[in-house]
Amino acid sequence: MNLFSGKVLKVNLSTREITIDRPEPSFYRRHWAGATQGFYYMLNEMEPGVDPLGPDNMLCISPGISGIPASGFCRVSIQAKSPLTGGACDTLAGGFFGPELRMAGWDGIIVSGRADRPTYLWVSDDKVELRDADHLWGKDVGDAEATIREELEEPRARVLIIGPAGENLVRYACVVNERKHVNGRGGPGAVMGSKNLKAVVVRGTGDIPLADRETIRELAQYFVKNSKTNPDNAIHQVYGTAGYVNGSNEAGLLPVNNFRTRYLEGVDETISGEVMLETIGQKHKACWACANRCKSVVSIDEPYKVDPQYGGPEYESIGALGSNCGILDLAAICKANELCNRYTMDTISTGMTISWAMECFERGLITLEDTGGIDLSFGNAAAMVQMVDDIAHRRGFGDLLAEGCARAAATIGKGSEAFAVHVKGQEFPMHDPRGKGMLAISFATSDLGADHTRMEHDSDFDAAAPPSFRENAQPLAIVDVMETSVLDVKKVAVHAQLAPLYAGCDSLGICVFVFAPVRTFKLAQVVQLLSAATGWEVSLAEIWNLGQRRDAMARVFNARQGITSKDDTLPPRMFEPIGPGPNEGKVVDRDNFEKMKHLYYEMRNWDKETGVPGYAKLYELDLGWLAEQEEGMKQRATA
Ligand code: SF4
Repeated sequence: MNLFSGKVLKVNLSTREITIDRPEPSFYRRHWAGATQGFYYMLNEMEPGVDPLGPDNMLCISPGISGIPASGFCRVSIQAKSPLTGGACDTLAGGFFGPELRMAGWDGIIVSGRADRPTYLWVSDDKVELRDADHLWGKDVGDAEATIREELEEPRARVLIIGPAGENLVRYACVVNERKHVNGRGGPGAVMGSKNLKAVVVRGTGDIPLADRETIRELAQYFVKNSKTNPDNAIHQVYGTAGYVNGSNEAGLLPVNNFRTRYLEGVDETISGEVMLETIGQKHKACWACANRCKSVVSIDEPYKVDPQYGGPEYESIGALGSNCGILDLAAICKANELCNRYTMDTISTGMTISWAMECFERGLITLEDTGGIDLSFGNAAAMVQMVDDIAHRRGFGDLLAEGCARAAATIGKGSEAFAVHVKGQEFPMHDPRGKGMLAISFATSDLGADHTRMEHDSDFDAAAPPSFRENAQPLAIVDVMETSVLDVKKVAVHAQLAPLYAGCDSLGICVFVFAPVRTFKLAQVVQLLSAATGWEVSLAEIWNLGQRRDAMARVFNARQGITSKDDTLPPRMFEPIGPGPNEGKVVDRDNFEKMKHLYYEMRNWDKETGVPGYAKLYELDLGWLAEQEEGMKQRATA
């Protein structure tokens, strides 16, 4: 009995050919399902240099290990070549689609080609069909989802879908399921739009085979009982991630006005999680089988009507669409968040691109003439909401901002590149590496561009952090207290331990909010859950190695697109001191950062030029097939 079905669905939209791939059982022990599965297909079947918005890009969808009935084991993962970075896109969403796909009996869906007209894919257990979506094109996700369920007469079908932003190829368009669970970063929605693929709809009625249901039940109960006293999960369950907003601001960590400062007066009384819960909050929602229930819901009638079905803003969205645009208007932030979900745009990239434009406006690099009369001053909430709408529809100045801040800065020029805050073209999430050494290395070397889900923060291991965080990290040989702002060889070594763990859990599709060191499930319990689901004798080393394998595959994929060590860097703003507030003056020391980055390369066995693991390392990771594909690698290694 095994979680995996041994079937991967392949759909070529150009030829309308539908086939089934049946990987060997050994494939699953090597790659499981999720990101390493997607990268396997991309590395074997996609030519380097393809247009991410062309038919030769691939869209790889997988339930990973979704379907284990315990908190956090419910994600759907998507890989593609990113239209935003030109490199790997690898993004997870919660909700219900992942488990439904597993119940339908599929370990993944690999979509290639481009349909000649709007289309959606309908998967009902083992029946698969391409259907016309002309009547859905242009509709927002709520309308389109309702229409699909009605015409299929399947009210319980799960719908992975794009709205107008995906159709209009906004480079950071996301993919949404159940209106509020988002595969957010890297532009997978634009890839779907470029393929004329409006939605992937699935209904599964089968049982998920699990080797040891009793152990899973006991561990699921452990989470229910213990998560309420976990310092981080306790915040989620009351406020959602919006509960981080006030504390971040008080500690001088909340990005403000395009990352120039990190403290904004009045946050506690206007846009904090506490205010949101007390004034407009409704009962939280959860993803499939999850007791953490971290998904906040808001409802507003005036001055903006905000539909609760699209959920409430997370910490990231409040920062990106709020403080980082100088905005303290909670209703406007909630409306912009709703529009992003309704039209399918990543809230982080959307807000960050608008904040970059606001700084351009403030400096006089763009004018009212450029913006079509929209006053893009920091703090103008109505302008921010208008701009979200314009970006989704590529209307007026929104057309330029739909390209993301890096491309928009390259078009505007005049020095605006210096304050486009991104790595590899992907805009920063609401965390700042100035004063957090590990974050600096993580953001710079992430194969996805700036990303906050692949690591813990340095402050989780400092003297003020709950001791349980460090105790839970001991299986990774992380035992010492760390000073948050330091970036030295010890800190780099800790990151070299943590990064593969996060990559492994991410690759499997486990929600980052449920596992140690910081959250409720201890690492040994994650291992037990995976063993109980598969019947395999899983180890922590296996998850760690899977993470290394995932990172190696992503880095080779990037190198094939020309993204190498030269792109593992931070934007100029990180080398400028932070403005007034509790962390005023903090900065990334450039020389030290470069030295530590190279040490990190050595720890990960990455080549200093190409940025990829060497021939021997790829073999060590059981990626010999990939080593043999790389031109000249063997000759260089054995010369
Ligand atoms: S912790 Fe939150 S985001 Fe993660 S699976 Fe549970 S409800 Fe979903």
